[in-house]
Amino acid sequence: MDWKAISKSTGAWPVPPNLLNYKETRASFSWKDAWQLLDGLPQNRGLNIAHEAVDRHANGGRRDHLAIRWLGKQGEVFDFTYGDLKQLSNRFANVLQKLGVGKGDKVFVLCGRIPDLYIAALGTWKNGSVFCPLFSAFGPEPIFQRLRRGEGKLLVTTERQYAQKVAQQRPNLPHLQTILLTDVYENISEDVLALSEQMTAVSDQFTIPPTDPEDVATIHFTSGTTGMPKGAIHVHNAVLTHAVTARYALDLHPEDVFWCTADPGWVTGTSYGIIAPLTLGVTNIIDEAGFDADRWYHILDEQKVTVWYTAPTAIRRLMRLEFDPLAQYDLSHLRFVASVGEPLNPEAVVWGQEVLHKTIHDNWWQTETGGIMIANYAAEEVRPGSMGRPLPGIQAAIVRRIDDKHVEQITRPHVDGELALKPGWPSMFRGYLHEEARYQKCFVDGWYISGDLAMQDEDGYFWFVGRADDIIKTAGHMVGPFEVESALMEHPAVAEAGVIGKPNPVIGELVKAFVALNPGYEPSSKLNLELLGFGRQKLGSAVAPKEIEFKQDLPKTRSGKIMRRLLKAWELGLPEGDISTLEED
Ligand code: ATP
Ligand code: MG
Repeated sequence: MDWKAISKSTGAWPVPPNLLNYKETRASFSWKDAWQLLDGLPQNRGLNIAHEAVDRHANGGRRDHLAIRWLGKQGEVFDFTYGDLKQLSNRFANVLQKLGVGKGDKVFVLCGRIPDLYIAALGTWKNGSVFCPLFSAFGPEPIFQRLRRGEGKLLVTTERQYAQKVAQQRPNLPHLQTILLTDVYENISEDVLALSEQMTAVSDQFTIPPTDPEDVATIHFTSGTTGMPKGAIHVHNAVLTHAVTARYALDLHPEDVFWCTADPGWVTGTSYGIIAPLTLGVTNIIDEAGFDADRWYHILDEQKVTVWYTAPTAIRRLMRLEFDPLAQYDLSHLRFVASVGEPLNPEAVVWGQEVLHKTIHDNWWQTETGGIMIANYAAEEVRPGSMGRPLPGIQAAIVRRIDDKHVEQITRPHVDGELALKPGWPSMFRGYLHEEARYQKCFVDGWYISGDLAMQDEDGYFWFVGRADDIIKTAGHMVGPFEVESALMEHPAVAEAGVIGKPNPVIGELVKAFVALNPGYEPSSKLNLELLGFGRQKLGSAVAPKEIEFKQDLPKTRSGKIMRRLLKAWELGLPEGDISTLEED
């Protein structure tokens, strides 16, 4: 393999991609061998995420390597080496010990992307306690629900968040014993304490207790796109998937500067915003601020980011802008760009190639899978609109349900079915919090059924069709919203589209599209007709939308996913259901 030629074609940085040949790597891969990527706790005391992410580097040659560069909203920059992170997370683990928080106890963290969050996460894992992140913009009710369902014993948060969102419900949270505030410097009461005071009062030495790979490490609530968020339970063993996928799907190399834009309130922000990059010993950029095109391009330029992991919503927002980023910013260090969370429209891949001069590599996974399962790879062909192919060690298939207990595998290419995975990969969720029956229902006939519909092409690339819940049945056809949305997005006026099925007595469901326009376009009946015609021409009349409605913005989860169920509820005048994760702005 001529890796220099590959580097050239993928954007240039003279390192060979970790995965040079998909088929060969896949054929020779075993999870057992992959353990070589990890260290394990000394004296065979097991496997702990924080040891893999921090201590083993701090104890070795990467002690002074930059682990986290934190960029504050106001322009502050704080650097943490692996050695720094070791000491700080040791202190946090000692604080937990002192406060009687032990193995299996739940530590919730409710704050923005501030350094305390990362230190708390690592210290929690060190202590054998369970890290439970809460997205910082949640209101009081979703916070209360999650703290109650998760039986949170300790909460790390800010003074304002505590006062405004938690204090009132304290009497109804019997498990919650201690609150640690990140931004006060004196304890407020016996159980509302200043984190900094606690941290300085304890030692910076800590020995990680024996940790079984199957010990629970993290609880992540799903995005709530299709209904009430579920609490997915994850174990320390997940770090093996994180290490493997960071190498193969994100192509991380030791000298990389990596930026994952996801918030740790969601699984991507924890698995790939904390665990994976640190486990590989790279430099991890953390930006406290939210999306801002100029700021983001500036970060990519100034921090010399080499690998960037972001999401389709952000990419679509960048696509809306009418300026040429390469004329203003130097993105020449950027070697690899990946995206997750929603289908990445082919149009977005083309935009990446034309405007950023980078191919955006889509990959697919879920809160439940704990890590990337299907991906496009640096050295392999990217087919715009495809999620790529299963990671080495992952067996994925398209299946059809025969009955409650049986499925059959669809091997013919281009036939839709449910996207399923063979259980057994290390980061698989081990349960839904308090919902054992629901967990069991995900497994049928030896497969984990993801709830997404997809198809495979003749070369084994997977193509997303839609979520099982969003599939539209119209005049005898099954229509996946993604196909319709992607076609509409090819029209220059369309920035974003969300497609639903609207009950119709004649054809079952009618395909209706909600469309947000690009700057410079105004809603009009002329444009409406034009888009209907455009859809028909692209998709044929059976699949094309029959109705189009303009919207300023589409409703999205806080993790950036279009909430089609909400578009549908609004359209039909039905109750909205759980909207705790709806983005408000
Ligand atoms: P909930 O399960 O509460 O409805 P959610 O499924 O949106 O929420 P997550 O686990 O955060 O919660 O998201 C995983 C889902 O996101 C996948 O099941 C899939 O529908 C979608 N998704 C993720 N990556 C991709 C991708 N590359 N292409 C298409 N869809 C994707
Ligand atoms: Mg889901």
